[in-house]
Amino acid sequence: MNITVIIAASLRTFTNRTPEVRLQADTVREALQALTDEYPEAARGLYDENGDLRDFVSIYVGDRDIRSLKGLRTELQEGDEIYLIPAIAGGACESVISTERMKAVTIEEKEIRRYSNHLQLKELSIKGQKRIMAGHVLVAGIGALGGVVAERLAAAGVGTIGLADAETVTPESLQTQTIHSTRDVDRPRVSSAKDRLKKLNPQVTAVVHQEKLTADNIEDILADYDIVVDASDNFVSRYLINDACVLQEKPEVFGAMYQTEGYVTVLGGKDSPCLRCLYPSPPPVGIVPTCSASGVVNTLPGILGAMMATEVIKLLTGNGEPLIGRMLTVDIWNLRYHMVHTAKDSGCAVCGTSPSIRAVQDMDYEDFCGLREDPNEEPIGSIDPEELARRLENNEAITIVDVREPHERAIHKFPGTLIIPIGQLARRQKELDPGIDTVFVCKEGKRSILAIRTLREAGYTGPMLTLKGGFDAAAQIIFPNEGAWL
Ligand SMILES: [Zn+2]
Repeated sequence: MNITVIIAASLRTFTNRTPEVRLQADTVREALQALTDEYPEAARGLYDENGDLRDFVSIYVGDRDIRSLKGLRTELQEGDEIYLIPAIAGGACESVISTERMKAVTIEEKEIRRYSNHLQLKELSIKGQKRIMAGHVLVAGIGALGGVVAERLAAAGVGTIGLADAETVTPESLQTQTIHSTRDVDRPRVSSAKDRLKKLNPQVTAVVHQEKLTADNIEDILADYDIVVDASDNFVSRYLINDACVLQEKPEVFGAMYQTEGYVTVLGGKDSPCLRCLYPSPPPVGIVPTCSASGVVNTLPGILGAMMATEVIKLLTGNGEPLIGRMLTVDIWNLRYHMVHTAKDSGCAVCGTSPSIRAVQDMDYEDFCGLREDPNEEPIGSIDPEELARRLENNEAITIVDVREPHERAIHKFPGTLIIPIGQLARRQKELDPGIDTVFVCKEGKRSILAIRTLREAGYTGPMLTLKGGFDAAAQIIFPNEGAWL
């Protein structure tokens, strides 16, 4: 069988820095034999002096640990991939909290009861709990994921929790953002979250940063924290947080979700890849909608957020195997978990060997994420919902194209529109009249920009506009008498 063995970065010293080795083998034992024949040094990494496999190396065939299969006797199929992933328990994962800081924490009588679950656990015990209590963790984005992380960390006893967010609580967020309650609607999310954390654990200090993270403020804000949790919902923040964490050498716990799937990993530490190593650039605007534009099962942030909080606890205490060099992908709808191996990219723009980004001020994040208008691109025009309502009322000739997904249209209909998914726009452009204005409608106004760019590339020259704020902004203005949408 043709097999590929994928070598983790920390084991590559034994394979002349080769990340992948292709070889022939029918079993895992034969594959390792072929590997060590080719790279005799690799035997030192894989086997101890008695010839037994070292237990800090996990071997996966695809996503299955061979310990759950037939061990070294596991049979291989054509094209199988074997992953050699060193476990990072014990010495390899150092606590981000120094011994001095840990020792400076005292656990009082009443705290012994409060934290007894951790104190009894041999993985954490008193030293681990003290490190948790000494920790300063910034949670960026206090929505669904960030809210779960903040609550778990507060209950765990993390000494200082920073809450960075500029938004307010909305009614549609209540289904997923359980840190906020019905009566918090219209309050700043950071204030609502702070109140909740104080109620949960008065011993925790919650620090509020009620502002959008920008290249101008992020360095100062991050300076006081040991770990940053990125639970933001846009690529501008994600790349900004990533770069700032790499530059300040702070580990970042990263979580992202989409509908029924999510990812968790640890980025930006000394040995871990950063976001740019995995994704050198963000997807074009509109291709990956945000949660508010695409929906999410409300249990998903609970699962992912708890995993992210667990990563924080492991990094604070220097215990367990953090998701460094690994990314967990979770599909809760089909209940499939997959661990993928992630590697540092030596050519990375921020953490590579010759980085081009040496300060966050070097970057225009809006431009990088495609949000700033390209000076060479013809500006994309928009129409206000009020103006569209007026033109409809006057029966002006206008084409409205609804580019939303079928399930979005099922909730909120926009009668009298042409329904064309973005993927079909180029070939169906004949249905549009280049002699009159075409207005594109999506949920929030972002996918409409993509629709216009797609048609321009396909050679359509008629006048095109986006509906400002999308259907969300327009519904009450254009259809004021239709209170019930379902
Ligand atoms: Zn990188």
